[in-house]
Amino acid sequence: MSPLLPVAEALARVLAVARPVTQFIEVPLLDALGLVLAKDVVSTVDVPPLDNSAMDGYALRARDVGAALPVSQRIPAGAVGAELERGTAARIFTGAPIPAGADAVVMQEDCTESSGKVSVSGTVSIGQNIRPRGQDIAAGETVLMAGRALRPQDMGLLASVGCSAVHIKRPLRVAVLSTGDELTEPGSGELPVGGIYNSNRYTLAGLLRALNLEFVDCGIVADTPQATADALLNAATCADCVITTGGVSVGEEDHVRAQVERLGQLDLWKLAIKPGKPLAFGSIGNTPFIGLPGNPTSVFVTFCLIARPFLLKMQGVAESEPLRLQARAAFSVARPGTRQEYLRVAIENTPQGLQASRLSNQSSGVLSAVSHSNALAIIPVGTTVSEGDTVDVLLLDALVR
Ligand code: AMP
Ligand code: MG
Repeated sequence: MSPLLPVAEALARVLAVARPVTQFIEVPLLDALGLVLAKDVVSTVDVPPLDNSAMDGYALRARDVGAALPVSQRIPAGAVGAELERGTAARIFTGAPIPAGADAVVMQEDCTESSGKVSVSGTVSIGQNIRPRGQDIAAGETVLMAGRALRPQDMGLLASVGCSAVHIKRPLRVAVLSTGDELTEPGSGELPVGGIYNSNRYTLAGLLRALNLEFVDCGIVADTPQATADALLNAATCADCVITTGGVSVGEEDHVRAQVERLGQLDLWKLAIKPGKPLAFGSIGNTPFIGLPGNPTSVFVTFCLIARPFLLKMQGVAESEPLRLQARAAFSVARPGTRQEYLRVAIENTPQGLQASRLSNQSSGVLSAVSHSNALAIIPVGTTVSEGDTVDVLLLDALVR
């Protein structure tokens, strides 16, 4: 029996052949959420553009504080004041530019104004409550680098330097084929005896769309060599990557392997991963191919661990590795395994820190445990876990995006 391929090694192999997409398009910034920057964005402006007030209050010279100061001008946000006359203060509002000559702002709560004069309580230091020009971003600074999948706060950041459109990598088109004569599409009528609904198509559509990749639906493929070959060829011509589910074992009804070998090239790996042992990786023509297992939970786990980083690299994303957190196990694993196991767990905050509880049914066919979990706990090969031990966990929120 050939040794099982460790997850890290399988990942390294697929990443080594992932070629990032080179085409880019320009889109309005408002439409760019989740899309991947194709070029560095360099600011042409200082943010903020001028020294400005961090408070509603009075702008003055720190050394003038003592006597009541005449209020010589009023500067709301959006206005530009005149140079501050010596021995006076300017009424100023948050975001308004500091008038020339002023070196501090005293917040209004520490001031009393009467008969056109303001007196200040407490001490005042030079620079207080002044947000200096360029404090956030200086002109010429790289704001965000190519390869960044834009998050909401990134969109705001880009807008803050005056950007209204961005060059983004062309979103990848990923074809999904579900193999299996037992599969029935939800909504297509009553489930025949012996049939099951096709859930993998929906899991994968969701996973791909959550990653802002284009889901190209290639439907259900019958378990025959001809249907499999036709579907694979069609998928390979209309997408940047082809993903199949099921049919990659070595049973008589598993045709994916033989047809990919005939049409292109294929490595079939027995991964040291649980759930999800069989995984196929190769190409059809120039189109990369990933053959996921059929079991719904295995599809989810192998997609997240192998296909997701591969696709994100193809999409040109610079940073795709999810943070690993640590949690206290509220469960035990008595027998050391020969495959790295990804247990479906529910993580919660406790006074002792994060705690991971194992979902009761860990069978690879039980999709409800994936749905009810919020993390995967990683149990390395050859290890046991006692209750209270620390385990590494991957939050699903970090994978399903
Ligand atoms: P296979 O690898 O084709 O033998 O499939 C393994 C298991 O996953 C079988 O129990 C299949 O019925 C099931 N399965 C395969 N494809 C799907 C799918 N698209 N949706 C739900 N279950 C599936
Ligand atoms: Mg099958």
